[in-house]
Amino acid sequence: MDKDNDLIKIIVIGNTLVGKTSFIHRYVNNGFRPDYKSTIGVDFAIKQVQTSTNKTVKVQLWDIAGQERFTYLTRAYYKDAAGCVLMFDLGSVASFESVRKWKADLDAKVRTQSGTLLPCILVANKSDKSPASVKDNDIQLMCEELLFVGWTKTSVKEGHMIKESMSYLLDIILGIS
Ligand code: GDP
Ligand code: MG
Repeated sequence: MDKDNDLIKIIVIGNTLVGKTSFIHRYVNNGFRPDYKSTIGVDFAIKQVQTSTNKTVKVQLWDIAGQERFTYLTRAYYKDAAGCVLMFDLGSVASFESVRKWKADLDAKVRTQSGTLLPCILVANKSDKSPASVKDNDIQLMCEELLFVGWTKTSVKEGHMIKESMSYLLDIILGIS
């Protein structure tokens, strides 16, 4: 994190179609476009937010548009990241199983400035769809085993738990919680 201008880089990773681009769009513009086109390469969006201690920071959310098939990313993408959102689709067991690979790649390639694991939340998206194919208990176990800072269900479609999950992560990054 670049403390001088308070720009906080957060990367959003996970399998294709789980809702990453929609999540970024929802958080930054508060919109949901079912026809949102995936772009090729790396994309990012910036949002100015108030932290829970009323500090203003700029959050830069990085999308991995179109590179999900590799399940690993270049170091350049991870460079200077302060936190991570790792997303899967509650309706896709395959996307949940990939969480392990994404987290291993993340932990192998990036650390915080003090050498600890990058704070990463596990986001179980599409909670509006039922029935879910992935059980809460399995998510909890994965969260503990792989040392995520927490997990939550979201529905980007319904705008459920988007801001909340981001402020939870931001507070950890900024050392507030
Ligand atoms: P990405 O490949 O991870 O960037 O996924 P996208 O953001 O492109 O979304 C993939 C598809 O899932 C799109 O058709 C979205 O409209 C849909 N989608 C994203 N979030 C949700 C959600 O919370 N609920 C439902 N039902 N669909 C969603
Ligand atoms: Mg996308």
